[in-house]
Amino acid sequence: MLEMRPNCECCGNDLLPASEHAMICSFECTFCEACALQRFHGVCPNCGGEFTRRPVRPAPLLDKYPASTKRVHNPVCGESDRPRNRAVDNNQ
Ligand SMILES: [Zn+2]
Ligand SMILES: [Zn+2]
Repeated sequence: MLEMRPNCECCGNDLLPASEHAMICSFECTFCEACALQRFHGVCPNCGGEFTRRPVRPAPLLDKYPASTKRVHNPVCGESDRPRNRAVDNNQ
């Protein structure tokens, strides 16, 4: 079962279980759409894997299967707003 983490681990934006803008990798590293697609170009900075949209958990099931409330912050994200791979920049 997905943890449904409560925030983007990069920018810290809240990602509610009902959000359609949460992206996760296979390890459930969780990012907002903007970070996942624009900042990381669809590649998870933690594991190098691909992102997919996190499915919405229907509200009636959240009582029985609550979303995680443990906020995750990735310190790597605070170091720079630029992707580490400069070749990616040149393609834009
Ligand atoms: Zn974000
Ligand atoms: Zn990952």
